[in-house]
Amino acid sequence: MQLIDQQNTEFDRYLESIQGKGRSLLLPALLKAQEIFRHIPRDQAARIGKALKVPLADISGVIEFYTMLKTEPVGDPHYAVCTSPVCAAKSAEALYAQLEDNLPAGASAEKVACLGLCDHAPAALINDIQVGKASFDSLTSPADSVRSTLYGDIRMLTQWCNEEVEHTLELFLDCGGFEGLQAALTKTPAEIIETVKASGLKGRGGAGFPTGIKWEGAAQAEGSPKYLVCNQDESEPGTFKDRALLLGDPFKIIEGLIIAAYAIGAEHGYFYIRGEYPLARAILEDAIRQAREGGYLGENILGKGFNFDIEVRSGAGAYICGEETALFESIEGKRGFPRIKPPFPTTHGLFGKPTVINNVETIVNIPLIFQIGVDEFRQMGSEAAPGPRLFSLSGDIQNAGVYEITTPITLRELIYDLAGGLPEDRQLQAVLLGGAAGKFIGPDELDLVLSEEAVREQGLSLGSGAVMVFDETQDLRLVLSSLADFFAHESCGKCYPCQLGTQRQAEIMARGLHGQLLNDDLVRLKDVGWTMTDASLCGLGQTASLAILSALEQWPELFTQKESHE
Ligand code: SF4
Repeated sequence: MQLIDQQNTEFDRYLESIQGKGRSLLLPALLKAQEIFRHIPRDQAARIGKALKVPLADISGVIEFYTMLKTEPVGDPHYAVCTSPVCAAKSAEALYAQLEDNLPAGASAEKVACLGLCDHAPAALINDIQVGKASFDSLTSPADSVRSTLYGDIRMLTQWCNEEVEHTLELFLDCGGFEGLQAALTKTPAEIIETVKASGLKGRGGAGFPTGIKWEGAAQAEGSPKYLVCNQDESEPGTFKDRALLLGDPFKIIEGLIIAAYAIGAEHGYFYIRGEYPLARAILEDAIRQAREGGYLGENILGKGFNFDIEVRSGAGAYICGEETALFESIEGKRGFPRIKPPFPTTHGLFGKPTVINNVETIVNIPLIFQIGVDEFRQMGSEAAPGPRLFSLSGDIQNAGVYEITTPITLRELIYDLAGGLPEDRQLQAVLLGGAAGKFIGPDELDLVLSEEAVREQGLSLGSGAVMVFDETQDLRLVLSSLADFFAHESCGKCYPCQLGTQRQAEIMARGLHGQLLNDDLVRLKDVGWTMTDASLCGLGQTASLAILSALEQWPELFTQKESHE
């Protein structure tokens, strides 16, 4: 009884603080209720609705949309075990089965899509603790959250990334922090945009759009206010580089955002971070508080007469919210359905206003450009995509982690020279390049240069820099089935080709996994794939079949094996 009173009092206070502030606070309010009550009781959902003036039916729709929001209480602890491709290849299903059979009293468990901990697979989230290399023992008595490992001979973006230290403004300044900002502020906003355009920087979230052109579009767009959004919803299986940046150097991200805000004329920024990164969120919020106290955020920043502040928003378990317009919908307190484009965010973005949305790694490149200058920046990377680049390397590899590459190298050099090759000298079977939305390549393609130009020539994409390695012992059918399940789970359902196609694809892959393919299933799979690619509304559906079809092209015999996966 006492606990219930405490919970109610805490939530009452929270509701008072958001009274009348509008629908855009719906997701934060639901997450707050979830945190306090360990689910969202219907009566509390109704009270949120009254406070924010949102109909209860709408609230129910939003709760249903996000995986992390629950209408029934979850246990304490609650185990979320990742079953996405890399974890699946590392026996995540068996781990989950063992956990379910031995669940401690009062605990609960669920299987979840990628937790962004592929470098520590198999991984799990236990309440707020990120657990890696999970075994049943480590799940039931977790130590601290796992840390990222960073590699790279020349580290420009990650030079000061360190998860071992407490991030203070003082330490950041001692390490040359805000030098890029100081240099940028000697220029006019238009000159800053010209500099970013001249640098050739392209977005590192996967789409690779030129950053300077995006900024110019928003800066010149009619309408105010203008918004800046940092997209940290990296939910693409195999991608965890932004987690490393957040945990290791949060002030650098803030520095990049201040420069971007000044350039485009935005006074309000949103940082959308995936809900599965609670530790990173806490570190970022603390850094923002310190930056505000130090005069780097707020009004009249550094006496330059411009204002800018950042609000942190948490996702709640929806891969689609990494799509820019779905992310806007999410911040606006709606289900994360992608919008039809055009119009594009630069003119009609968040709240219908001109908006720039950039990925975390893209933003971290900004201070560097102003620190070292365009010429030196363009010495790195390639002609089509200058600058350093981060790769998330996971799977059957000696040294999984985040690799910073300043000069394009081959896949062979990345895997064997930098990452130490495969464990126990096993043979490479396959690499999934570019994340779940990427393509499989085989051992005969290891001389592929990891530059935008070289991969494009081969019909591939670097995507968000994910490189997942699978050795000869892996059953690729299991990996493909896990990929198909991921897309079926994450399709938002707004358009039929993807809603139905991802389901059919997952069913066929499940049959394939168990050696039970029906006649013409592989023909159906291709038909479904092409249909999704050609007719889906957004990138999720357009790319949901690429990895699977690329695997079938590489290894046509994959599903003619008779034995079923056990
Ligand atoms: Fe939603 Fe899929 Fe359609 Fe995208 S393609 S809008 S994720 S159903």
